[in-house]
Amino acid sequence: MSSLFPALTGAPADRPALRFGDRSLTYGELGAAAGALAARIGGAGRVAVWATPALETAVAVVAALQAGVAAVPLNPKSGEKELGHILSDSAPSAVLAAPGDELPAALGTLTRIDVDVHGAGPLPDPQASDEDPALVVYTSGTTGPPKGAVISRRAVAHTLDALADAWRWTGEDVLVHGLPLFHVHGLVLGILGPLRRGGAVRHLGRFGTDGVARELNEGATMMFGVPTMYHRVAQALPEDPGLAQALGKARLLVSGSAALPVHDHERITAATGQRVIERYGMTETLMNTSVRADGEARAGTVGVPLPGVELRLVEEDGAPITSYDGETVGEIQVRGPNLFTEYLNRPDATAAAFTDDGWFRTGDMAVREGDGYVRIVGRKATDLIKSGGYKIGAGEIENALLEHPGVREAAVTGEPDADLGERIVAWVVPADPQSPPSAAELADHVAARLAPHKRPRRVRYLDALPRNDMGKIMKRALAS
Ligand code: ATP
Ligand code: MG
Repeated sequence: MSSLFPALTGAPADRPALRFGDRSLTYGELGAAAGALAARIGGAGRVAVWATPALETAVAVVAALQAGVAAVPLNPKSGEKELGHILSDSAPSAVLAAPGDELPAALGTLTRIDVDVHGAGPLPDPQASDEDPALVVYTSGTTGPPKGAVISRRAVAHTLDALADAWRWTGEDVLVHGLPLFHVHGLVLGILGPLRRGGAVRHLGRFGTDGVARELNEGATMMFGVPTMYHRVAQALPEDPGLAQALGKARLLVSGSAALPVHDHERITAATGQRVIERYGMTETLMNTSVRADGEARAGTVGVPLPGVELRLVEEDGAPITSYDGETVGEIQVRGPNLFTEYLNRPDATAAAFTDDGWFRTGDMAVREGDGYVRIVGRKATDLIKSGGYKIGAGEIENALLEHPGVREAAVTGEPDADLGERIVAWVVPADPQSPPSAAELADHVAARLAPHKRPRRVRYLDALPRNDMGKIMKRALAS
């Protein structure tokens, strides 16, 4: 296969490619730096990348892909135990890091290659096939210990080109980026995506609404974020007319990695006139669905399957749901060229993840509207509450709670109940800890919006919800 990034050789050398703070590279400079580094990486095995939000991380991954070698991005915030697990599991031949970055002891035995973003060397043509691995990315660990998903070059190319179709994404787009670079969202979509299109990325280092406003005012056209970032935007908007104006200029605001609360989406639309495009993906599948740039953005839905992706909902007994009514909940299964190859060293987990006829079981539950729009109700393992003979999705109750002015954050779980099987528990971070809304008030608020059987039976108050580094709520930590 040829390069995943035709623009490295095809775009004008002075075209902007990457900017992190006040450090930047053009396509010409990126090609030269990646060429020099690729020569040092060699042509075999896997390399780990110390994935700080810095120029070096982007150069390292591009160099590995040009060398035809798989990159294993490491979360610099991981503890020694997790890093130790990832290193023994993925067995990289070296670790690529920015000069001066201090690496923890767990990485001590690995050959270190310092990334020189100003290096200069000829760009090799990758000696790799479409099915060769591009990346080994560890899942977020939201529901259990992270698993290493082996992602082929074909899957990366497919997902990025499918998104380009859905989002009308071109080389003219300039992305504002504030996400970490060790997951699919920040790395594949946020770095490899613009580079494959021949466009530019401006990374904020650390996400902040001021940085977003500045970049959008200076010509950025798209923003990718996780729901916690859009929540911060929604909170800041009433006091920051400049932010509303800047967001109004964006061509595309995209949210993913977790469900975007309807309340935040609506507040952003009301203040800026913009809708937020939701897309749904996983480490294992890259992107499955998205609202299309030219489609209707309905709050609370993740749109329709991307080109080339087959999607179905199945009942508990494995039978596919054949007519979509917007009500019947089933597990999402997907098939297509976007799928990963396997979990590294986990043939058991890989086999369990697929049906006999090759559909990947996502573990996410959804309903589908008559016109094909997918509405995720939550994860099978943690978000589906079986109470009084009903199957209730946590997401819609969370959305209802967030509409209460006294609620800042909310998560819903089920706990065992002698009568109901499970009862609904709401975990609430009050807007004002001095006067939290009462449990009865919140239960009535939910019942009035949804249905009486969806009222929380118990409310527990917290100062903050436990979240991982993608801002995802760790429900396992709540239930214990
Ligand atoms: P682990 O698999 O280790 O428990 P994880 O599932 O959080 O962690 P990722 O692969 O990063 O790891 O996340 C994929 C999951 O994120 C999906 O299965 C889905 O539950 C959730 N998700 C992603 N995008 C959306 C979205 N737009 N709306 C709702 N949920 C989403
Ligand atoms: Mg998962």
